[in-house]
Amino acid sequence: MSAMRRSALMPASEEQSFALTVAGAADSSGVIYYTVRRTGKSRIAVRVSERGVVVTAPRWVPNREIEAFVAEKRSWIIEHYDRWQKARADSGDPARIFAEGGRLPFRGGTLTLRLGAEKTAMRGGSELEVAVSAGAGGESIAREVFLFLFEAARSVIGERIEKLAPRFPRQATKLALSNAKRQWGSCTSAGHIYFCWRLIFFSDDVIDYVIAHEFSHRVHMDHSPAFWRQVESILPTYRTGRDKLRAVHIAALPL
Ligand SMILES: [Zn+2]
Repeated sequence: MSAMRRSALMPASEEQSFALTVAGAADSSGVIYYTVRRTGKSRIAVRVSERGVVVTAPRWVPNREIEAFVAEKRSWIIEHYDRWQKARADSGDPARIFAEGGRLPFRGGTLTLRLGAEKTAMRGGSELEVAVSAGAGGESIAREVFLFLFEAARSVIGERIEKLAPRFPRQATKLALSNAKRQWGSCTSAGHIYFCWRLIFFSDDVIDYVIAHEFSHRVHMDHSPAFWRQVESILPTYRTGRDKLRAVHIAALPL
């Protein structure tokens, strides 16, 4: 257990902070801080998210068992922490995104925000003029940007579906956009297909992959080899989009 030492900071609450020393991690300090939260659950678990590294553990488990758990999961934690840090750095500070000159991902590229327009609209291929006053707060800017992105998602996803439709094994009985945070798409047994509007952050190959994936569920409600053959027959290059999507950290997206 030499890899870990208790940090000097130890709140009296049920939340305790610990440090994991990790030579070679992306964080140059070589230390990952993690929080231990005591819960009523029966198992120890670890999560890396916008809240950092959080270990949840039952109240009765002694600290040394938690430390052993963290030691065992060490490489998983480091890998996810590094990935999360990198994604966060790529996307920038959320408070700075929804402001003049703020940047956010859009169709695989970057969109720069310009405030004070009469109507929210794209200018050129990479600037978004936002219809808010120059002194507007981050929340109203974010709302205006969201409305634009949602409409953009509707038209882009719609176009991509139309393009791939001749290869679908079956059409959808209903199509809609969703706001699901952890699901890019879904297909119900009744044939209702939903796509997350956040797909608009990514390039068309990613969007095409999710479309091929969900429409393949119209004939295979599983992820069997037959399902993947179906995906491939709709989109032979589906692996490119799938791999890009796997590397995405949802917590690092601006909205
Ligand atoms: Zn699936």
